[in-house]
Amino acid sequence: MALLTPDAFAQRLSDIDVGMFERWDVSGVIVDLDNTLVPWNSREVTSDGGAWIRSVQRAGIKVCLLTNNYSSAARTIADEFGVSAIAGALKPSPWAFGGALRALGVSAKQAAVVGDQIFTDVLGGKLAGMRAVLVRPLGTAEFPTTKFIRLLERPLLERLRRSGHIT
Ligand SMILES: [Mg+2]
Repeated sequence: MALLTPDAFAQRLSDIDVGMFERWDVSGVIVDLDNTLVPWNSREVTSDGGAWIRSVQRAGIKVCLLTNNYSSAARTIADEFGVSAIAGALKPSPWAFGGALRALGVSAKQAAVVGDQIFTDVLGGKLAGMRAVLVRPLGTAEFPTTKFIRLLERPLLERLRRSGHIT
């Protein structure tokens, strides 16, 4: 269960206090794309997400975008913010997260992942040995496979809600 339990939960990216990363000694943050930073299959970063990324950068924390999506959106957005990006990442595979750690130049202990899915973002981050922050998905549009995974996620979210890990 620990591998499926986020260290923190936020309704939106801007609710994630950058000071928390500093208290965790985290100097590299891995951020999911679809339904975390952009609505599904979009390349328009939300104003909330954009402002949050800038605040993370201002704190001297490096950012790497990590997405299972193969689209070129990750590259475009990464260039906009001057951060690194890995697309087609096959999360929750540890290799995906290993690649992001290399891009950030930090160890797993110095890293945190932020994403909207338990079985890709949280599980993958925890398997790789890093902190994980779960955020509420931006919307309900997503890949059919993701929709299926959400069905499996639902009882877990219910359990996390009951135990007070998420709201
Ligand atoms: Mg996502």
